[in-house]
Formats: sequence, C-alpha cells, structure tokens
Amino acid sequence: MDRITLFAEVLLPLPVPGTFTYRIPFELNEAVQIGQRVSVQFGSRKVYAGLILELHQKPPKTVPKYIISLLDERPVVYRNQIKFWSWIAEYYMSTLGEVMAVALPSAFKLSSESKVVLAPEFEPDVETLSESEFRITEALLEREKLTISEISDIVGFQKVHPLLKNMIERHLIYMEEELKETYSRKKEKKISLSEQYNSDDQLQILMDELGKRAHKQLEVLIAFISLAGFSKENRKTVRKDEIKKKVVNAASAISTLVEKGILLETEQVISRFEANEPQAEEKIMLSDAQQTAFSELNEKMEKHQVNLLHGVTSSGKTELYIKLIEDVLKEGKQVLYLLPEIALTTQIIQRLRKYFGDAVGVYHSRYNQNERAEVWENVAGIQQKGVHEPYKIILGPRSALFLPFDNLGLIIVDEEHDPSYKQYDPSPRYNARDAAIYLATLHEAKVVLGSATPALETYFNVQTGKYGLVTLKERYGGIQMPEIMVVNMKEEKRRRMSQSHFSSVLLNHLHQTLEEKHQAILFQNRRGFSLRIECDQCNWVPQCKYCDVTMTYHKKQDLLKCHYCGYSRPVPPICEQCESPNLVMKGFGTEKVEEELSMLIPEAKIERMDLDTTRSKNAFQKIFTDFEEGKTDILTGTQMVTKGLDFDKVQIVGILSADNMLSFPDFRSHERSFQLMEQVSGRAGRKNRQGKVIIQSWQPSHPIIRDVVDHDYHRMYVRELAERQKFRYPPYYRLVLVRLKHKKYEILNEAADVLAKDMRAQFGKRVYGPEYPMVSRVKNWYIKQILLKIPRDHHLNAEKQNLKQVIDRFKGLSKFKSVRVQLDVDPQ
Ligand code: ADP
Ligand code: ZN
Ligand code: ZN
Repeated sequence: MDRITLFAEVLLPLPVPGTFTYRIPFELNEAVQIGQRVSVQFGSRKVYAGLILELHQKPPKTVPKYIISLLDERPVVYRNQIKFWSWIAEYYMSTLGEVMAVALPSAFKLSSESKVVLAPEFEPDVETLSESEFRITEALLEREKLTISEISDIVGFQKVHPLLKNMIERHLIYMEEELKETYSRKKEKKISLSEQYNSDDQLQILMDELGKRAHKQLEVLIAFISLAGFSKENRKTVRKDEIKKKVVNAASAISTLVEKGILLETEQVISRFEANEPQAEEKIMLSDAQQTAFSELNEKMEKHQVNLLHGVTSSGKTELYIKLIEDVLKEGKQVLYLLPEIALTTQIIQRLRKYFGDAVGVYHSRYNQNERAEVWENVAGIQQKGVHEPYKIILGPRSALFLPFDNLGLIIVDEEHDPSYKQYDPSPRYNARDAAIYLATLHEAKVVLGSATPALETYFNVQTGKYGLVTLKERYGGIQMPEIMVVNMKEEKRRRMSQSHFSSVLLNHLHQTLEEKHQAILFQNRRGFSLRIECDQCNWVPQCKYCDVTMTYHKKQDLLKCHYCGYSRPVPPICEQCESPNLVMKGFGTEKVEEELSMLIPEAKIERMDLDTTRSKNAFQKIFTDFEEGKTDILTGTQMVTKGLDFDKVQIVGILSADNMLSFPDFRSHERSFQLMEQVSGRAGRKNRQGKVIIQSWQPSHPIIRDVVDHDYHRMYVRELAERQKFRYPPYYRLVLVRLKHKKYEILNEAADVLAKDMRAQFGKRVYGPEYPMVSRVKNWYIKQILLKIPRDHHLNAEKQNLKQVIDRFKGLSKFKSVRVQLDVDPQ
C-alpha cells in the first residue's frame, strides 16, 4: 500500500464530548479497522484503551500523537453499532463516551495498572542502594516491569509507596501506566494419547514397564484409557479434571507422563454456559384466533416496520413470537427478544430453549463480566471455533440492545409498555423500546411490540397510522378473562370484617383456593416489612441522614433502611424528637404481608419475591420452580409478580392496596395503575378455568378500577388521552427534564432559578419549574428540576440544540461550576 498518512478518530472512556484524533503508524495502515480498540496516550502519562470510530486522511490542526498499539485483530464493534451509539447520544442528549460505557461489557474496557520500570539512566551501583532497593533493581533488571504487589512480595512488606517515591526522586525508577486486559476466556485442559502408543502392543509394553516402578502413572494411564475408550480407532481426548476426579493426587503423574511424551496436553477455549439441546416436542398448533392474528401480522409486517400485537393476557403472544422467530431464522437472520425484567427471562428462556435449544442466548446484568464478554464475542462472530454454536436468538433486558448484531431480522419488544425499559441512571437515559426501533431501521429489520396494556404513546402511534396493529381478544384455550371483584375497604373496616390489611373477602377466597389445591399471587406495591416507624405522640418519623426520604423497617435484619442510598441504622428505642417510648409501625410492605399472612393462614406455604429476596443469581429460578412444583401456595411480591409470568394453577390474584398507586403524583399514574392491575390480574386462571382477582380499595368507584373490572383498555385510553392533551403531556408533547444537583441547598436554588430564567428566555411558557422532585435529596445531593415541553409538531432536533446552547452557557458560569446537570429526554 502507498504510504498514505491515516488518522483515527478515537473514542475514549472520558466524560467529555467528541473524539480525539491520533495518527496511525504506517506499518499498521493495513491492519487498522473501524471498531478495533487501540491504546493511546492521553495527557502526559495516562494510557487509555479507546475505540476507533473513524479513519480518515484529514490532518488535524495540532500535530497528533501516534496510537501506541492495536489491541484487536478484528473489530469488536460493528459500524452499525457505532451509528446506533451516535443516535442514542444525540437523541438522549448524552455523550458518545457515556454510551460506550453502558454498551461495551466492562471486560473489554481495559483498566490501566501502574507498573514500576527502571529509569533509563539507572546504573547498578551497590554502594548507594539499600537492601530493599537492591532487591527491587535486581528484579527489574531481570523482569523489566513489576506491579506494586509484586514489589511488596520481593521486599517482604506492604507499605512500599514511601520507598518507591524516594527511588523515583533519585531517578532510579519511574512509574508507567500499562493497560491490562480483564477478559479471560474460559479454558480447559485436555489430554490425549501420543500417536506412537496408539497401538495395542506399544500400549501393553508401556503398561508393563510402568507397572514395575511407576504405579501412580499406570493408574493415571488406565483411568485415561477407560475415559478415552479402549478401541484405538476412536479414542477421544479427555478433560484433565475428569482424570483428576478418578485418580487422587494425579497432577504430578500426569505431568510426568506429558513430559515423557506419552500423554499430550492441549488447552482449549470453552464456553462458560451449559449446553441445551432442543426438546423437539410436539409442534405448536396455533388456535384459530392465533392463526388469524399470525396471518394478519405477516401481512401488516409487509407494510409497517413496527407492529403492535395487542393481545389480552394469556392470549398466547409468546407462541406467536416463536412462530415469527422460526420464519426469521429460516432467512438466516438474527432475532433480538427484549423483556423488561430479568425475572421474566428466566421463564421465557425455558420456553424458547424447548424449540430452539442452544440457538438461544441470554444477556443480562446478573451475568458476570466474562460471561457477558463471551456472549458478545459469540454474537459478533469472533468466537473461537467450537466454543459455542452461534446464537441466533438473543433474549435479554434493555442492555441486550448493545450486542454486536450484524444481521438482525426481527426485534420483539415484549411487555412494551413496561417502565423498566427506560434507563434511569446513568446517562444515556434511553428507552429500549424506542431505541430498538432505530436499531431495527439500521438492519432493515421488523419490530413487533407486544402487550396486553400498550403504552399510550404506542397506541397513539397506531391510531395515527405510524404502527400497524394486530389484536388478540381471547385467551388461549377458550378460557374466560378473570372475574374482578372490588372490595370496599371502608366497608370492611366499618363492619370490622377485615383483619389487619386483609379483607374478609380475600381471606375467604384464599382459604378456598388452598382447599382446592390451587395457588394464589398477592401483589403489594412496596417492599420491606412496614413502611415506617412513627412516634405516637408527636408523629416523628425517622428519615435517612443523606436523603429526603422516610426509612423503611426490615424485620429480618431488624433495621431501618433507606431504599435510595442503602444507608441503614438500628431502630431507635425512643422518639428522637419528644423522647416518647411509644413508637409504632405504620404502613404495609411485602415482608409484612408475608408475616401477617402466615399468622392468618398458618397452613399456607408462602414465598416472597421482591428486590430483597432475589439478589442472588439463581434466586428467581428457585422461586419459580418451587411455585411451579406446588411447593409454594401463595406467592407474594412487588411488581415483579405482575409481569408476564405464566403459571398454570393460579386461581386467585389479590391486589392488596390499589390506592397507593392511583394517588401517586405523576401524570402517568392512572395509566400505570391500569397496566399494573390488568397485568397482575392476567396471572389468574391461565389454564383450565376462569380465575378471580380481588382488588382491595378505599375508592372502589375510581374510573381506573372500573376499567380494570371491565378489562376495558380502550375506555382508559380515550379518557387518559384527553387528559394528556389538556395538560400538555405525551404523546402530544415531548418532555425533556433538566435535573440539577448540588450539595449546597442555596447554590442549587440560585442555579435553578438562573437556568430556568435562561430557558424561559428561549422557550417561553413551555418551561415548568424549577421545583423539587418527590425525593428532593439523595445521598446528600439536593435536587431540583426544570421541565421543557416540546409540541409534537416542533422540530425536535432544533429544540434540543437550543436547549444545549442554553445549558452550555449556564455551565460556563464559574459560580455554578460545581452544579451537576443531568438531562432526561422522554422521562418516565
Ligand atoms: P401471553 O404472553 O399472551 O400472556 P402466553 O404466550 O404466555 O400468553 O400463553 C398463555 C398460555 O397458553 C401459556 O401457558 C402457553 O404455553 C399456552 N399457549 C398459548 N398458545 C398455545 C398454543 N398454540 N398451543 C399450546 N399452548 C399454548
Ligand atoms: Zn415523638
Ligand atoms: Zn438515603
């Protein structure tokens, strides 16, 4: 190739916008590609791993540094992904570096580690060196570089920093930053028999010989042969640890046999995941309603890129997805199947693996970094041969969007209405459903949004003709939608029928269900034991030290906890305001539901599913299996139990307090309450016979509760949409929330006023606030927010540009330098 001078735009993991230009050394001209990682120097000493986003020949104004080295032979990120990242950064008003930080598995983000090297001017001079210094320099002469901990080992003590500092000052050594790859592929050692012994005669001679004086080696050899097979024609290789399992203390005998050239040892990269064969059961037979919906969907997919599958709960949407997936796989394309919660992936993965076996992969945050990196390499097609068959279907929550797909044919967004699709923190605050649509465009792929309770925005897009619509109105198997009973808690209390938080109606139904050997699910919106502790005399309530929130009592640990920052403290013996010893428990969380229920229905086996009980990797699996196998009678929990779960024997669903959702001060609270109640009721009576839902409420005639009783999505939609229009909310307006944070209350207030004024000068009356959010202090940071509303027909990009300018001006004010500014586009 000609000696052209190439430059690379390199994205660095720094919180600054834009890329940095570096020069490519000629000898790398051929090898360099977009999407590879490179190591570069930034600042005087720092070395970073960056990503090449662009290659070009335009020299920058100042002389650029050379890149230090290429870290990958092949790109780890595809061009389409870089386009996708750019779209996310632009739409959600974040930087590309921030997008890279959430998109790339951290195993690919090299960490830099300090190493000690000899100074070039160093000359060995034993006279001037102390004993420790001598040992260090000797070691460096031999090994060139040492880490701090290696040096500790050499000198035999921990605190080496003063020593090193002194040596640096005397120009004996200096420190160097070096990049360290953190991803380690899983490897396995395999043993095979050397060719020359692969004949019965030779083997016999060998055994006789070993039998005379090397019994351990003989034992190992026999174990190997029994595992590898006796027939010399098809003798297999054997995992080293299998031999070790058979023979105690085999390690050194194996090494000796390897040294003698009798056994061969090889190392192979293997998968971290277990193998799953498809079960190739009976084929799915769609019901008539499903068949009609399936044909309609196929037809509409010709016309619309995005289609909504609006199917009531338990109508069999998953089976339709499976059919769609089959067709996409036949075209040789990939499928991305998004779910809002990890809990759901646990259940759906089992259903998909039945049909697709090992072609289904999962990607989520409960996987460790090495596992995630393995899935990444697999999807990118850069995995070594034989590790794992290529995934064709990837199942996962929102982060799965960032995998290196190169050939997507279909994206399914299941439970598309779910707020968990939105990333709250850190930036980019993206909505995976909306981002999925852009991603699909890049691949010319189709999108199917599925829900029984679509987001208002989505249904609005259907009505305006932007998305296609297919509906499934009946449950699979001809089962009726569950019957909804609303219990008036006021009445129950007045007539002294309820016990604590349980109405007599609910308790009676639970008893009956248990007698019939059916199961129940109880939903309570809050976790913890009891919402709070309160003083009977003065109403004092313990607050978090760092956040503006009430602390929650957790019985198991007997502690008060803050759900925002994790701070916990013991329960005070007396009121800290009036010193009264009469502190009482107020409110009702999932932990308390569990406890009270076990007293009211002692024969029931109860299990709880909430954040506190599902932290470990396999927690969901265990809870589901217990419930499926009937080891649990009643499953209680937070919204985790409302979503998409499919259990056969659930007869009763109880919603313990509908009111705290309905009265949440947010423009979406009605829509959300409807979705939550309709979804959780959808867990009842999915197989065999109609189920029953019991909603406990203090305002039983609330319109949203009536909508749930009648399973009337459309009535809810029309009413809520009118409200949204009247009060200027989505889908008629787009929202951008500007959140300001500072540790000093006064500075925050002043800053918020100044920024709001600047915004008003630009956008006029469409600016709302500043005001405190519901929780106005978290981890000692005070928070205020300003809301900008953008009418649908305005040019969104232009508006965002203007907002950015206003904010950049504000950030330039030295007085407010320490104020943190966060942007949230389409806040949830
Ligand atoms: P949804 O996702 O719409 O709530 P599911 O896909 O979970 O509903 O289906 C509800 C139940 O009905 C599941 O147990 C599913 O296995 C079963 N089901 C749905 N369609 C079929 C079908 N065509 N054949 C057999 N079982 C089906
Ligand atoms: Zn008090
Ligand atoms: Zn806190």
